[in-house]
Amino acid sequence: MTASYKAELVGVLGYPVAENPTGVMQEAAFAAAGLNWRYLTIEVKPEELPDAMRGVRAFGMRGINLTIPHKVAVLSLLDEISPDAAMIGAVNTVRREGDRLIGENTDGKGFLRGVREEAKVDPKGKRVVILGAGGAARAIAVELALTGAREMTVYNRSVERGQTMVRDLVSATSANAHFEPWAGTYHVAADADILVNATSIGLFPDVDAMPDVSLATARPDLLVCDVVPNPPETRLIQSARAQGLQVLTGLAMLVYQGAIGFEMWTGRTAPEAVMKAALAKAFGI
Ligand code: NDP
Repeated sequence: MTASYKAELVGVLGYPVAENPTGVMQEAAFAAAGLNWRYLTIEVKPEELPDAMRGVRAFGMRGINLTIPHKVAVLSLLDEISPDAAMIGAVNTVRREGDRLIGENTDGKGFLRGVREEAKVDPKGKRVVILGAGGAARAIAVELALTGAREMTVYNRSVERGQTMVRDLVSATSANAHFEPWAGTYHVAADADILVNATSIGLFPDVDAMPDVSLATARPDLLVCDVVPNPPETRLIQSARAQGLQVLTGLAMLVYQGAIGFEMWTGRTAPEAVMKAALAKAFGI
């Protein structure tokens, strides 16, 4: 057999991008699966995105992740957008089918996989409270709606952003969702099954910040989730643990969204434990 020295390429385009740890977990996964694949962490200025996407095509890259500020701008540079990415209005993962580049969004899917596989909770029929109305919140809300969550309440500081998110969500998915302005302390509703912090409150370096919520009114089986991946043990997660509540950290979401990307690109089952260990090491935990 003739040897092949050609590597398959994937990566991430962002600006800034140097602190994005995804390459660590994907490279670990490729090594564990015995794949000659490379994950490139590439800084691309906003005005260079069209050229960069032409480069993705020219290099025959198998896929690409998009991060800030490219998740929306990339929509017009693709051949097809998956239905849920279209509903979310953003693409974080591109996969290739022949010559066609297809936009997907794995953030909400990764969150749901964490809820199901790690927390062992079925989100179908559940009452969910989402804090935040940015990109992560939109992705999570769309996937929760598609999976049949019973009710979603979105709390956000900016009223306009929260109202727009819920209006888009209801019109795209017919979800039973409503918006509440987040002013002062939010006392968790006693009938909530899942609470999700989908804001950036608590993200490094602002590690002492805590969403203005009180868990005192929560039911004992409330699942408390945080999207903040670094550090995974946010103050919200610590408070929930101290109260004996079940938790799901942002590290889980980050691993599972990457695992779904790995599976879309390679067609193989992702070595999730390897990916999680690689990320935990990168975060020094
Ligand atoms: P956006 O900038 O789109 O949204 C930020 C959200 O946080 C908004 O709702 C904003 O409210 C709210 N917010 C920020 N600061 C405050 C504050 N001090 N008080 C109240 N609300 C606040 O960010 P993203 O949605 O893209 O990212 C949010 C978080 O999700 C980040 O920490 C990111 O790291 C994480 N993330 C994690 C992923 C994972 O795999 N674990 C994947 C993707 C994102 P307002 O509208 O009022 O400004």
